[in-house]
Amino acid sequence: MAKYIFVTGGVISSLGKGITSASIGRILESRGLKVTLMKCDPYINVDPGTMNPYQHGEVYVTDDGAETDLDLGHYERFTSAKLTKFNNVTTGIIYNAVISRERRGDYLGKTIQVIPHITNEIKDRIKKVKDVSGADIVIVEIGGTVGDIESLPFLEAARQFSHDMGKENVLYVHVTLVPYIKCAEEIKTKPTQHSVGTLREIGIQPDILVCRTEKPLTTELKEKISLFCNVQKEAVIEAMDVQSIYQIPMVFKKQILDEIILSHFKLICKFSDLEKWQAKVVERVLNPKGKIRIAFVGKYIALQDAYKSVYESLTHAGIYNDAEVEIKKVDSEDIQKFGSEKFLNDVSGVLVPGGFGYRGIEGKISAIRFARENNIPFLGLCLGMQCAVIEFARNACGLKGANSTEFKPKAKNPVISLLQEQYKVKDLGGTMRLGAYPCRIKNNSLAAKVYGKLLTFERHRHRYEFNNRYRKLLEKKGLVFSGVYPKKGLVEIVELKNHPFFVAAQFHPEFKSKPDNPHPLFRGFISAVLDLQRGPSKAK
Ligand code: GLN
Repeated sequence: MAKYIFVTGGVISSLGKGITSASIGRILESRGLKVTLMKCDPYINVDPGTMNPYQHGEVYVTDDGAETDLDLGHYERFTSAKLTKFNNVTTGIIYNAVISRERRGDYLGKTIQVIPHITNEIKDRIKKVKDVSGADIVIVEIGGTVGDIESLPFLEAARQFSHDMGKENVLYVHVTLVPYIKCAEEIKTKPTQHSVGTLREIGIQPDILVCRTEKPLTTELKEKISLFCNVQKEAVIEAMDVQSIYQIPMVFKKQILDEIILSHFKLICKFSDLEKWQAKVVERVLNPKGKIRIAFVGKYIALQDAYKSVYESLTHAGIYNDAEVEIKKVDSEDIQKFGSEKFLNDVSGVLVPGGFGYRGIEGKISAIRFARENNIPFLGLCLGMQCAVIEFARNACGLKGANSTEFKPKAKNPVISLLQEQYKVKDLGGTMRLGAYPCRIKNNSLAAKVYGKLLTFERHRHRYEFNNRYRKLLEKKGLVFSGVYPKKGLVEIVELKNHPFFVAAQFHPEFKSKPDNPHPLFRGFISAVLDLQRGPSKAK
């Protein structure tokens, strides 16, 4: 019988429910259990694919091409769970399914209601995740904050789970804030008491409280929370702010959160093997030997979450190479206004991430030119590759007006354009080239060197492609097409010879990087930067 853990959040949003869920997954996996994780998002959008990054943050893409919440990125980075479109549901998905069934007449004249029809649909989706994954433990994170109107059906479904499956098979974790009030010099438990009270009104008594706090919780405070919230004292977990999110599994482990969960489920498991995580990830992220600065030229840089997986991937590559990667966020529109020189003079690498729309594009193109001409290692991702192609076509091949038809539909030289099949597309949601596709890597290329193999599967999320009509010309001028999707001849990776590291990919390698297993392109990029820093004689 599978076990279910529901993770809810109280008091305020952005408490780190996603990282809490992922870390619980990690500590349970280290006990030999197979885990999977799922996110329930209370908004009405079917998926976040059509949302502005400032609304939602990064859209995380799974192998099977689902556009999902960025918390799924945390789940995949912390655990070995393979997530699919089933691992993220939204109110939009649930209502869509129920209303379509109603229209077909499947409910045979019944009145369709939140309970039981919507809640049943939610429960079925959760059970489906268990069936598809074959996991021993399903961790279900419920988005939003307890007390919100939107998340009520999800919380009600979570409540029903322990009724349906038996209390010993279901566990509730509540992530809450225990604020420190500076002027009173006191830590306050009242918001947590209220939040647990609200949860109880819905019928959920949490088994575990994860308390986000700036200051350590004293034994007295833990006892107080335990008493008022009716949670065992050991199950009041202190989650203090830490330097790196990758410390969290260790923070939980120290407080025997894994044991508390296993004893609730009456499971006997092997000892934990988290030492490797501590040695390979935590020690290294906290004590790097060197430091490098990389410019990150994007347009949503003001929002921490907009490029989550890319930032994390840089950290992973730093961990591997024993260096701290400082990310200098540069607004591409500023480069457009003031020139590359002003912003890129003090960096040892340039990264241009994905994006949509013309705003800021010319700044990205200038930044790439600066990196190409000054031998600064460069990594381009998706739109970053498209900009690299445009830059090369314009400035190295003299192709006037080279552009993407996304920005200039009647471009004189459309080096990036739509595939025939995309012209027919009318809906914006879920219609891009999405998910994993094979990429054949060219022998003896830089890509082959960093990958150490000639075939890889990488995740996509874009509509436009390199226009193969220009391939010969660009090749003649020195652009190497080192990765191709064989079935359709689509360009996946481009690179330059006679440059320390100039690689750009049409796919999103950031979705497959892990702290203990960085993506080869990020790893190669950061090691090229370090090699240059060390000088030719000391290069690895
Ligand atoms: N806007 C580009 C396209 O649709 C790139 C997308 C991206 O960077 N994810 O092809």
